[in-house]
Amino acid sequence: MPPAPAKVLLVDDDPAILRILAHWLESAGYEVRTGCDGREALALIEADCPDFVLTDWEMPCIDGPALCRRIRAMDLPHYVYVLFLTAKSSPGELVLGLEAGADDFLCKPVLREEMLARMCAGMRVVRLERRLSQMANTDPLTGLLTQRAFFERLEQEWHRVRRHALPLSCVMVDVDYFKRINDTFGHPFGDGVLRAIGECLRESVRESDLVCRYGGEEFCILLPETDSRGATQWAERVRKRLAMLAFPAGERVVRVTGSFGTTEIHADTQRAGQLVDQADQALLCAKQSGRDRVICYESIQTADGMPVPSDGQSGCLFAGVTARDVMTPLVASLRKSMTVGEAAEYFLRSRINSAPVVDEEGKLTGMLSEKDLMAAMVSLECWSHPLSDVIRSNVIVYEEREPIRTIYEFLCRVSIRRVVVVSRGAPTGTISRGTLLRWFRNQVLGSGLMGQIPRSAAENRSSQWCCRDLERTARTIAATAGRLQEELADASGGRVPLVVGAATRIQELVNDLLANARDAEPAGRGLHSGTLMLGSGHTD
Ligand code: GH3
Ligand code: MG
Ligand code: MG
Ligand code: MG
Repeated sequence: MPPAPAKVLLVDDDPAILRILAHWLESAGYEVRTGCDGREALALIEADCPDFVLTDWEMPCIDGPALCRRIRAMDLPHYVYVLFLTAKSSPGELVLGLEAGADDFLCKPVLREEMLARMCAGMRVVRLERRLSQMANTDPLTGLLTQRAFFERLEQEWHRVRRHALPLSCVMVDVDYFKRINDTFGHPFGDGVLRAIGECLRESVRESDLVCRYGGEEFCILLPETDSRGATQWAERVRKRLAMLAFPAGERVVRVTGSFGTTEIHADTQRAGQLVDQADQALLCAKQSGRDRVICYESIQTADGMPVPSDGQSGCLFAGVTARDVMTPLVASLRKSMTVGEAAEYFLRSRINSAPVVDEEGKLTGMLSEKDLMAAMVSLECWSHPLSDVIRSNVIVYEEREPIRTIYEFLCRVSIRRVVVVSRGAPTGTISRGTLLRWFRNQVLGSGLMGQIPRSAAENRSSQWCCRDLERTARTIAATAGRLQEELADASGGRVPLVVGAATRIQELVNDLLANARDAEPAGRGLHSGTLMLGSGHTD
């Protein structure tokens, strides 16, 4: 493709000069617009930024040097090469022109040959600048926008759609298990896959959409004038297209999938960057709930986001702690084949408000909550339907060995309150905000440093303190059980609420006991709470 002709803006208050210079420049292949004063020139530059400005020095209102200073102060998409047309040639005037930001001068009366020669010299600068900016804005592997260029364009789009009250959506894509492709077939093969994914994304958007390689195997797409619903439909289409791509590798065919997070501007989206962050949070949920899916930020958000603490704040506290150390061990899972009615019965009897649902092999397939049952219960025949009709399969899942910091940050960032912990696909526990708070309380109290975060909570815990705490907790459990015994003996009816109240309290105390017991033991012999099956369910 031949390079686009350079755009020239000619500014002079003398129409005869404008006419003649425009004719010479157009004949030499330049694309020319004209303005008769500085004010008109600024409006023309705003509307479409030229490569060159050739401006007269003396003009009404805004003169040449003032115009040049204004151009240099503008936030323009690329460099503008400025030439002064002037009869002034004293050293003082040249200095003034250069200080205003001029690149070169053309003496009036202008000679055609000299003008074209000086334009040629300017063209070298313009081409160099185009090349540098092309290199800075384009990802060499995929040819997509770089993250830097994307954020620049995002700012512009942000202001445009805000001005006109238009929707703007953002989609984040991350290729699933891409490291395995590199590890199995080599980095160059991986590069080919990334190129093809970039191509697939580019082919799936409109001219006005922006696609960027956000980093590594992550892509970010901006969809102007599209709402979240449209963005989610778009992402779903692209997800299917990605899954159709096939990469031959010898005898084998490699396939990829991607996880997608989508979002649009909300009342509380204050900055352009926040839009990308929202899409990123949704992507995180897509990853944690099983990959190869689209999650829309609006579906995970209840407007109570928290700032994510910096490394320094939580790094020490969480050092070496995994999901398994903190989780509330799982009490009961429901089988996928159970009916809605049976599950409701179970919830009511055991006073739990949610439970993981497993398949015949005990592997996690979804999550059932009271809310899901409430949605289902209005239709009577639904009570005999299998649970698989009503469960949510977008469950956020972490492995037992996942560092607790990752889960803590996740629960800080999104409004999802609980994640499920699994071992080889089978649910073994849950971690909610409440679980984390309790664990944190135990750590800080145990370290004897209330109000101050310990260097390494596990290390600093005094085992003497732990023993005292164990005794106190055990006494409270005994007292609670004793009270229940008396109340049950006296109760004339309604025993279930008595049992549930006391049992829930005892369950929490037992969790505390287990947490403290680990630290009362010498290192290496810690008791793992996940090995015990407790109580009646998780209620937090
Ligand atoms: P997940 O589903 O959790 O996203 O798993 P993943 O393996 O995709 O994620 P992870 O972040 O562990 O690995 C990303 C990989 O992407 C690791 C890195 O080597 C690879 N990668 C990043 N940039 C490039 C690149 O330019 N070319 C190739 N071939 N690989 C890249
Ligand atoms: Mg003049
Ligand atoms: Mg990634
Ligand atoms: Mg990935």
